[in-house]
Amino acid sequence: MTMPVSDPQFIAYMAAFRAATEHTAACEPCQDGQPCPVGDPIHRAFLTAKAAWEGEQK
Ligand SMILES: [Zn+2]
Repeated sequence: MTMPVSDPQFIAYMAAFRAATEHTAACEPCQDGQPCPVGDPIHRAFLTAKAAWEGEQK
């Protein structure tokens, strides 16, 4: 699969993925699957970006 690194939706998806991963790595509640007030919008943004990206692929 070719990586369309110039696709802004993919870049947003990767940025959101990185932000969510970095937060979860440092946050116990989020590691337990109970997003904290800080992590909740970060995880939501990731899911939104992921859905937008996956929607583009169909
Ligand atoms: Zn958290």
